[in-house]
Amino acid sequence: MALTGLQIYKLLPQTNCKECGFPTCLAFAMKLAAKQAELAACPYVSEASKQQLEAASAPPVRLITLSTDGRKVESGNEIVLFRHEKTFYHPVPIFVRVKDTDADLAAKAKELDAFAVDYVGIKLHLDGIAIENASGDPAQFAAAVEAVRGAVGMPLIFIAKDPAAFEAAMAKANGAIPLLYAADASNWQAMADIAKKSKAPLAVKGDGTLESLANLAEQIKAAGVEDLVLDPGARGFLDTLTLATQIRRLAIKKNFRLLGYPIITFPGEGVASSDEEPVLAVQQIGKYAGFIVLDHFTPARAYALLVLRQNIYTDPQKPIQVKPGLYEINSPKPESPVLVTTNFSITYFAVSNEVEGAGLPAWLLVADAEGMSVLTAWAAGKFDADRIAKGVKTTSVESKISRKRLVLPGVVAVLMGEVEEALPGWQIEVGPREAIDIPAFLKLKP
Ligand code: SF4
Repeated sequence: MALTGLQIYKLLPQTNCKECGFPTCLAFAMKLAAKQAELAACPYVSEASKQQLEAASAPPVRLITLSTDGRKVESGNEIVLFRHEKTFYHPVPIFVRVKDTDADLAAKAKELDAFAVDYVGIKLHLDGIAIENASGDPAQFAAAVEAVRGAVGMPLIFIAKDPAAFEAAMAKANGAIPLLYAADASNWQAMADIAKKSKAPLAVKGDGTLESLANLAEQIKAAGVEDLVLDPGARGFLDTLTLATQIRRLAIKKNFRLLGYPIITFPGEGVASSDEEPVLAVQQIGKYAGFIVLDHFTPARAYALLVLRQNIYTDPQKPIQVKPGLYEINSPKPESPVLVTTNFSITYFAVSNEVEGAGLPAWLLVADAEGMSVLTAWAAGKFDADRIAKGVKTTSVESKISRKRLVLPGVVAVLMGEVEEALPGWQIEVGPREAIDIPAFLKLKP
């Protein structure tokens, strides 16, 4: 359970020496409680206090890292149940499963690695490949790992039942730190030994009850493996939602350490058809998968899941923004119009995509509205005549154009008079309310 500022203060030296950069130990304690300072900033904390403070400040869901050739994926460190309470920190990594019985694994791996989409200026891609020992043959599994490793440097999950298959695969991992899936009641001792030897995180698979999962996690932890990932053993819509919610609640609300690990899910298992896989994945991205392994990859499905994930894992206190400034669309000429919008990414891309897609040249003046959309910014006093005039000045747009024509978003037509006053000599027009109507507007009034 998190400590209060006063509880932390009692564990500090209380000498007020200021070396931590704060005027008093109490001020430092308050910052620690708010997670705005690092304990390491105080060089005088006793070992006993340090252990107590570190244990209390450890996140309720342990951070798990996989890496291949320096490319990392992280999951965990979450501290809230709902995004609006603060934020979610590590977007759930999305993997795609391949099997050691598949033909041309290298080509398949390259296809997954090459998949990328641009969403409001952010590059989204898949996070890794899960390789399954479907053949049951350790040598074939090792060959599959070798083929994938030779083709791409993506993070990996190894899926097998036989500990010998993991031994063979790790020999071909070539320095990668994969997730080993999975230890169950029948093989956990051998799996714990391999995980320790290879310093790889280990997935723990339960039988559908939280009690058995926690018991297994406790045994494996006692055997010396700290980095665990949980598979409660449930499949399908209702059971995965129920167990994942219970696990996250126990970890965050009750600080129940034995279930304080990311959860791995397989939305392609236990559904009636492959069409249900992305629907279940959507549920699990929201609640509360830590790793998702898809069985079917199509660009359209992956795009939808990555965009959903991006939206859920965006910090609600920090809107996605683009840099304020002047953007050129389709090589504008001096007589091209100047369109105005705000620096909220989705607003910016809605406008720029419409104009660009229509092949129309224009200058796009993006005003600094602290990342808010047009109407929200206007209502909050962050998008007004002064800010638009400031944008005109700081971008020196006047030196690039021969016709001073500025088009306001239709939803803030009310600003027209003020903008005319703030920008004497400019022709101010009110454009459409929706970005989709901009091309027709520009064609009508080029
Ligand atoms: S460095 Fe440590 S002892 Fe000194 S003021 Fe900061 S918290 Fe107190």
